[in-house]
Amino acid sequence: MDKKYKGIGSVQTRLIEECSELIKAICKSERFGPHNYHPGNKHMTPNYELVKREIADVRQMCDEMEERLKEIEEIHRKLKSLRKI
Ligand SMILES: [Mg+2]
Repeated sequence: MDKKYKGIGSVQTRLIEECSELIKAICKSERFGPHNYHPGNKHMTPNYELVKREIADVRQMCDEMEERLKEIEEIHRKLKSLRKI
């Protein structure tokens, strides 16, 4: 995850995006092999490493999503006490 774009977009959108990046990395690793790398990758980063990085990104976004859900849950609890919903 590029740090300079970290706060852009909602948590939900960023989590969806990171999940899609993980799916893509897994697909590439399965198709071309975990020890292979993209020919344009000057660092020759193996596909399995890219999968690990995307897993870390997804974990980070899941943590942020859980924090967001706690906020939503707290709002819901307050609304419930006010309106008896
Ligand atoms: Mg990512």
